Amino acid sequence: MTMALVAPGVLCVFALAFLWAWTIEKTRHYLLLLAAGPFLFAVGALMQVFSFPDGTAPNALASGLFYTAAVLFVAEAVLWRSGKRLGVRTGLVLLAAVMGGLWYFAVIEPNTLVRVYIQNFGYGAIFLLAACKLVSLRRGRLVDRVLFWVLLVFALQFFFRTALTIGLDAPKSAAAFAESLFWAALHLSLAVLGTAFATALLAAAVSDLVEDLRRERDVDALTGVLNRRGFEVRARTIMTSGSRPLTLIACDLDHFKQINDSYGHGAGDEVLRAFGRLLGVSARPVDVVGRTGGEEFAILLHGGRDAAIVFAERLRVELSRMEYAFLRPETAVTASFGIAGAEPGDTMGSLLDRADRRLYLAKQGGRDRIIAADAEPAMRSIA
Ligand code: GH3
Ligand code: MG
Ligand code: MG
Repeated sequence: MTMALVAPGVLCVFALAFLWAWTIEKTRHYLLLLAAGPFLFAVGALMQVFSFPDGTAPNALASGLFYTAAVLFVAEAVLWRSGKRLGVRTGLVLLAAVMGGLWYFAVIEPNTLVRVYIQNFGYGAIFLLAACKLVSLRRGRLVDRVLFWVLLVFALQFFFRTALTIGLDAPKSAAAFAESLFWAALHLSLAVLGTAFATALLAAAVSDLVEDLRRERDVDALTGVLNRRGFEVRARTIMTSGSRPLTLIACDLDHFKQINDSYGHGAGDEVLRAFGRLLGVSARPVDVVGRTGGEEFAILLHGGRDAAIVFAERLRVELSRMEYAFLRPETAVTASFGIAGAEPGDTMGSLLDRADRRLYLAKQGGRDRIIAADAEPAMRSIA
């Protein structure tokens, strides 16, 4: 009896852990489902341990309802975490299918063996369905890959374990059931694989939370590009990795104060957002884009100076052609650019300084232009 309480106890600990994770990041709703799953499963297990409600059929149906709901909640949560869903309708259909089967073979034509198969194969199928929808996790981060494989093994054990340990002959009495190989294997595999699955889920949930915090720390909320800190950390890593050629583009919106003064801070924010979007879609994933100041941005490109000039020119032209519903048509939004290629001995700081100096030259030269060399006359760039 005491041993039988260990599993529900462990399940409740996991439920509390997921509940705790949810209190940290309440927008991650899947954590609530993950908390509900083990809790409902524990309730189902306790109903069996304490024979509540009394009688084979009522107990099988009541505990079956909690078990099935638990499995559906966990499957839905794992999918939800990756932006996928089982959906309420599919969930209800699966619940009705399992419960309908249990009811038939508990009340109309009592048959323990068939009930065992319905529950185990049913839960295996639900987890297998979730695993199939999540095959893309196989190529994800380590926590995602581990979660996928543990989920798959967990799903498959429902089929193999049941077929291997109970076969076609169910123990006749409750006492015989408790003594059976099936019962022992069920408890062992749920203890080992269930714990592995719950631990993998907890690790994935914690890594999601860390990822959220890291994003909050490194990404600029207004524009969606990296903030100064995020930019410097990543750019410095690339600089010191020795990867070359590298080119830095520093840019600054022209007469931005006037936009704020004439149209309000909100309009200024919209322009910054639009420029951040433009940078985000224009740069390649390997390049590093950051907002280094109020209306100042920097892009570290893998490539030489000539490629950077072409890139900056495209940004310059696209920015000047952008239309804003809230600005008068004669108000042009432009930016100036300073470009510097990384040279031997350069640090992130010296490279930024050189690009900034050229950006300053571009401002002095009349703005809306690109300067890529110190001695370069301040001319309107190629276009
Ligand atoms: P220049 O062409 O010489 O760069 O002129 P400028 O007006 O763009 O430069 P200045 O440095 O004088 O003004 C920058 C302005 O950017 C001042 C500041 O109020 C505004 N700014 C900084 N951060 C934000 C922001 O997050 N939102 C908005 N709307 N404005 C901002
Ligand atoms: Mg400016
Ligand atoms: Mg500025």
